[in-house]
Parts: sequence; C-alpha cells; structure tokens
Amino acid sequence: MYPVYVAKDLIEAELLVQRLNDRGIPNAVQNGFLQGLLGELPMSLRPTVCVLEERDQSAAQLCIREMVAALEAPDAPDVVCPKCAETSPGNFEECWKCRAELCP
Ligand SMILES: [Zn+2]
Repeated sequence: MYPVYVAKDLIEAELLVQRLNDRGIPNAVQNGFLQGLLGELPMSLRPTVCVLEERDQSAAQLCIREMVAALEAPDAPDVVCPKCAETSPGNFEECWKCRAELCP
C-alpha cells in the first residue's frame, strides 16, 4: 500500500476514493473506521487514502490536485451591481451589463 493523501475527515477521504474509483485505480482507506469515535483526530490517525499499486501514485496525485482545486473553489455567491442592480456571477469583477466595478 502506498499512502497518497491524509484527509482531514472521512468525507474528504471519500471524495478522493470516488475520483480514484472513477479512474479504475485500486485504493484503500486507512483509519477510516476511527471517524466518529473521536473528535479532532491527530495527524497520524486521520483517514489516509492509499493506492495499492506503486505505478498508480502519480495518477493519484492528479486526482488529489483536482479534488483540492474543486474544494477550494466553491461557487461564489452572486453579486448585485451597486449601480444598475443587475445580478452578476460572484467571480465577475465588473457588472456584465453596465461595467460598474463590483465589490465582493
Ligand atoms: Zn451594473
């Protein structure tokens, strides 16, 4: 077994497991059973996602990067233009309608 990722909780571990399964990468989670018995887990006891084959480690790293990027970029809430009151997606820096600057 080759540990590739220490998750902060079982939910995060499960997200990675799903991505690995989607790519057909054999995997296992260590310490998954501890979740719920203890509160905040020390690093050494956190759910650890492992791949079973050494050659899958780099593919697993790609899955991890995708997952982390997805977790860090949640959909921003819509912003309402202060000038024309039109609603723009939260990642817009200016109003799509009147080009006024939007404050996040
Ligand atoms: Zn506007």
